[in-house]
Amino acid sequence: MARKFFVGGNFKMNGSRASIKKIVEDLNNVDLPSDVEVVIAPPALYIHCAKELLKNLEIKVAAQNAFPKPSGAYTGEISAPQIKDAGADWVILGHSERRTIIKESDEFVAEKTVHALENGLGVILCIGELLEERDTGMTLVVCNRQLDAVIDKVKDWSNIVIAYEPVWAIGTGLAATPEDAQSTHAEIRQYLAEKLGEDQASKIRILYGGSVNGKNAKSFNACPDIDGYLVGGASLKPEFIDIIKSRE
Ligand code: PGA
Repeated sequence: MARKFFVGGNFKMNGSRASIKKIVEDLNNVDLPSDVEVVIAPPALYIHCAKELLKNLEIKVAAQNAFPKPSGAYTGEISAPQIKDAGADWVILGHSERRTIIKESDEFVAEKTVHALENGLGVILCIGELLEERDTGMTLVVCNRQLDAVIDKVKDWSNIVIAYEPVWAIGTGLAATPEDAQSTHAEIRQYLAEKLGEDQASKIRILYGGSVNGKNAKSFNACPDIDGYLVGGASLKPEFIDIIKSRE
């Protein structure tokens, strides 16, 4: 079975009611390819408003984080059931900004992943190495370690999409080359095959993230193990639509 191309827009801590309304209206006003799954991740405050404004019900909404408890005394956190209740179907977990700035551990990301899946959310699980890790040949060691924490806890991978996001490529304008990205994606898939079996590994979508834009998106088209993109900065701009259509 072919893996459906997936384009996620990670708005991060950007936007206002007005700007997110504009992005959603732009998405409402174009014919998007039916063979691409599109998910937008506005800040949690705007999930409900984005969901209400979306006319194309094929476009799904994601949260950017979820605490691994359903409710309780966790000031400032949001839970998977609340995210579902606000109308989102997905959550981004393990983003490098949370791993590095908020110091989320691999285990905590895995715990969140289990909880989100149990509560019916799809998970966009981000992995990726820092520049110094790449420079010292540690890319796969880091990615595999980040994956191991989740592999230890999750048996059913049907609602997980992996986003390989080399940290040095995020927000820098320096995307990985298609050759580099393809080779890392193939190695990640190989690792998944060793751990989960060939069949499961062949079904898991692996997105590339890091400085994808309207111009470079097409350059990854020939990469067989790149099943879509997780887009940050460019998802706030009209070029997000070019990225969604980059396979046409
Ligand atoms: P970027 O961010 O596209 O702005 O590099 C990607 C991400 O952090 O998901």
